[in-house]
Amino acid sequence: MTHATGTLYIVSAPSGAGKTSLVKALIDQLDNLRVSVSHTTRAMRQGEIDGVNYHFTSRDQFLAQVTQGDFLEHAEVFGNLYGTSQSTVEKTLAQGNDLILEIDWQGAQQVRRAMPDSRSIFILPPSRATLRERLTNRGQDEESVIEGRMALAVDEISHYVEYDYLVINDDFNTALDDLKSILRCARLSVAHQEELHKGLLTALLS
Ligand code: GDP
Ligand code: ADP
Ligand code: 5GP
Repeated sequence: MTHATGTLYIVSAPSGAGKTSLVKALIDQLDNLRVSVSHTTRAMRQGEIDGVNYHFTSRDQFLAQVTQGDFLEHAEVFGNLYGTSQSTVEKTLAQGNDLILEIDWQGAQQVRRAMPDSRSIFILPPSRATLRERLTNRGQDEESVIEGRMALAVDEISHYVEYDYLVINDDFNTALDDLKSILRCARLSVAHQEELHKGLLTALLS
C-alpha cells in the first residue's frame, strides 16, 4: 500500500471556543494526524511547554524568520505575533500525515491562497455567555485579557463564511464526532483512496 499525501486542515475559532481541546482529542483518536506547533511572541501560560504548545520566541527572532521566508503564514493576534513553519508543513504532508493548523482568520486567508487544496473548519461556541464562561473557567488569562478576547470574538466570527465547514462546540463529544466525520469523509474521496489503493485498483482492473 502506498501512502497518499496528507491533507492540510485549518481550524479557527474565537478564543475560548474549544479548538485546542477538540484538536487534542482528535489527535488522540485518529491515526496519521498531527497538529502544527506555531511560533509565537506571546508570553507562556502556566502549564505550557516550549516546543509542545508553541515555539515561544522573541519579536526580533520572529521578524528575522519572517524575512528569511520561514513562515507559510503569519499574523498579529491580540498584539502578539503567530506564525506557521513552512518546512514542517511540507514535511508532515509529504510523510502522508494529515496536519491541522490552529490559526486565526488572517492566517487562514494566507494558507488558502498558498495551499488551495487545504480544507478549513470554523468552530463556534453555543452562545456568547458560554464563550465568556469558558475563557473565565480556563483560568489562564487576566480579566482585561478576557475582555479583549471577547471584544475580538465578533471580528473572528464574522469570517465564518470563508470556511468549508462549521462546527458548534456545545456538547464536546458531538463536536468531536463532527470533526472526525469531516476528516474521514476527506480520507474516503476518490482522489485520496485511489492513491492509497493503487495495487488493489490495478488488480481489480486487470
Ligand atoms: P487560545 O486560542 O485562546 O488558546 O489562544 P492562543 O493564544 O493560543 O491563540 C491566539 C490566536 O492566535 C488564535 O486566534 C489562534 O487561532 C491564533 N494563532 C495561533 N497560532 C497561530 C499561527 O501559527 N498563525 C496564525 N495566523 N494564528 C495563530
Ligand atoms: P481555544 O483553544 O479555542 O481558546 P480551549 O480548548 O482552551 O479553547 O477551551 C476553552 C475552555 O473551554 C477550556 O477550559 C476547555 O476545557 C473548555 N471547553 C472546551 N469545549 C467545551 C465544551 N464543549 N463544554 C464545556 N467546556 C468546554
Ligand atoms: P492563544 O495565544 O490564546 O494560544 O491563541 C490566540 C489566537 O492565536 C488563537 O485564536 C489562535 O488561533 C491564534 N494562533 C495561534 N497560532 C497561530 C498561528 O500560527 N498563526 C495564526 N495566524 N494564528 C495563530
